[in-house]
Amino acid sequence: MAEIYKEPAPYKKDVDNPYESMMVRFDKAAELINLDEGVYNYLKLPVKQVIVSIPIQMDNGKVVAFEGYRVIHNNALGPSKGGVRFAPDVDLDEVKALAAWMTWKCAIANIPFGGAKGGVRCDPNKLSMSELEKITRRYTANLLEIFGPDTDIPAPDMNTNEQIMAWIMDTYSMHDRKTVTGVVTGKPLIIGGSRGRREATGRGVMLATLAALMKKGVNPEDTTAVVQGFGNVGSVSAKLLNEKGCKIIGISDVTGGYYNEKGIDINKAIEYVNKNKFLEGGNFGDKITNEELLELKCDILVPAAKEDQITVENASRIKARLIVEGANGPTSADADQILMDKGIMVIPDILANSGGVIVSYFEWVQDRIGYFWDELDIEHRLTRMMNEAFENVYLSALNYETTLRLGAYIYAIQKVANALKLRGIYS
Ligand code: GLU
Repeated sequence: MAEIYKEPAPYKKDVDNPYESMMVRFDKAAELINLDEGVYNYLKLPVKQVIVSIPIQMDNGKVVAFEGYRVIHNNALGPSKGGVRFAPDVDLDEVKALAAWMTWKCAIANIPFGGAKGGVRCDPNKLSMSELEKITRRYTANLLEIFGPDTDIPAPDMNTNEQIMAWIMDTYSMHDRKTVTGVVTGKPLIIGGSRGRREATGRGVMLATLAALMKKGVNPEDTTAVVQGFGNVGSVSAKLLNEKGCKIIGISDVTGGYYNEKGIDINKAIEYVNKNKFLEGGNFGDKITNEELLELKCDILVPAAKEDQITVENASRIKARLIVEGANGPTSADADQILMDKGIMVIPDILANSGGVIVSYFEWVQDRIGYFWDELDIEHRLTRMMNEAFENVYLSALNYETTLRLGAYIYAIQKVANALKLRGIYS
């Protein structure tokens, strides 16, 4: 008999429901632009929400049923796009919020995609490679009608990687009787992946940071930064910011954080994590907790771990002058006002971490034309698109005399609303 998989959440969740947290910002932006009521009603509900059961025979012979989700929030601008995360506490609300954020993110990035997100409730740290592969393939098989290069294109997110994308591509292709590389992005290079995709989100975080420092008239060489999270996004952001002259004085992962006022050798930390998986046990500086890390005195804070890290509880103690949201939803809606009152500039997630989906777009384009660009080409295109996106959000915020976060929502909502108006309502 199949068991229902129940994994206790390993960390405390904020009081905010992530979808409500997204809706608070959406509502505020809608009010500022006096959004048409019909468009508001259209956009507040996701286009499609699917829950699938993923029964898997585990290595010990037992059958366990995992729960998987895929939410398409909107597809007015094109096929929906967004990652798939594997985590013990993923639920439909979280995936709904993340899908909506993808809609806004793609609109801001000026790429022809709508927004989606997927998730499987599981703890990848406790699964073998073969169990992970089975989960991925069954999840994909259950969503064959949803996925497709012209309909909905998954990608990596928390705890998913190139290997998992390769399995998604292969499963979809087996059913389609031909290799369909464009059905998923974030693949390994030799099977239709793009150069620069792995570093893209971190590179985008660095570019957004530089754009903001430029507006403030601050030289990156005169800054200190603290990075929360040392996965793909955090580690690359830290490395590239460091290369631009910024001193990284704090880093962390789920095992805890390190503070070093002289600056942390990021390459050494990356090497250590490649070998040992976590920062734990590395000699990077004074040991601190993740909570302490967020409150360190620094110029730039990059929360690149997970949702709801900066909340009403700790926002008033944040000392950074600039927050660059590498993760999706790291600041709870209620904390926005506190940060604003403190005069802290926040580059919102839907702009700051859009480098990943921008290079996903490049990957999709390259898969479709069958011609692959070199690394420099990717970097130039990404730099141009990130800078344009930053400028558009910045102008939108100035125009409406509001924060970059609401400026970003306004820019995105106006764009999607325009597309909806042009396409009309099919009823
Ligand atoms: N998961 C990433 C994000 O949240 C990338 C999505 C994609 O490339 O489609 O932006």
